[in-house]
Amino acid sequence: MIAGAMIESSGRYRLRTWLRRNLPSIVSARIPKGPKDCGNHEWYRQDADHDACYHCVTGRRRRGPVGTPSPRIAERL
Ligand SMILES: [Zn+2]
Repeated sequence: MIAGAMIESSGRYRLRTWLRRNLPSIVSARIPKGPKDCGNHEWYRQDADHDACYHCVTGRRRRGPVGTPSPRIAERL
């Protein structure tokens, strides 16, 4: 993804995320995730039981059993 597209996407801390992904690790290790809610979490599997947001430290959730819909999807059911 190019920097322009990352910066234009909604949510805070997208530039930080782009820099962490694209700079050498010795530099990117000094750029932490954002400390506040980014406003538009994008999830990845952090460990066996939790998902975390790429952009902020507040974005962390416990994953339910396999086949359990996410809270956002469950609201619509
Ligand atoms: Zn987030």
